[in-house]
Amino acid sequence: MHEWALADAVIQTAVEVAQRESLKKITSIKMSLGELQEIEREFFDTALNELMKTHGDLFSKTKINIKTIKTRFKCRACGHQWKLSDTEKTLDEETRESIHFIPEVAHVFIRCPKCKSPDFDIVEGRGIGIDSIVGEK
Ligand SMILES: [Zn+2]
Repeated sequence: MHEWALADAVIQTAVEVAQRESLKKITSIKMSLGELQEIEREFFDTALNELMKTHGDLFSKTKINIKTIKTRFKCRACGHQWKLSDTEKTLDEETRESIHFIPEVAHVFIRCPKCKSPDFDIVEGRGIGIDSIVGEK
């Protein structure tokens, strides 16, 4: 499952940081999760918790902080920038759901609010990023 692969990547990164910096415990992992992402948050949290248990004491005190990043779009035609929330009002619930899980779908339903062009970039708020990994020796 996709969520497990992502969670595994996060945990592997933390393990590498711990080895490199000779940390006995990881105390905090801070992540950013795009509003437009392909993961089911509940599965992701479960996956993180399960994976952390497989590393003995390393993650016994870890606080995980996940911040949601608002998605911003930029029109390639006119340069206009807008947020997902600006567009969502014009979409029905089913479409909104599919956009959250399959960002590619955004290009089918979302148009630049200014010039109606379907040609835009997702500037930020997509996928997942690790902001910081902190631990103690
Ligand atoms: Zn435009």
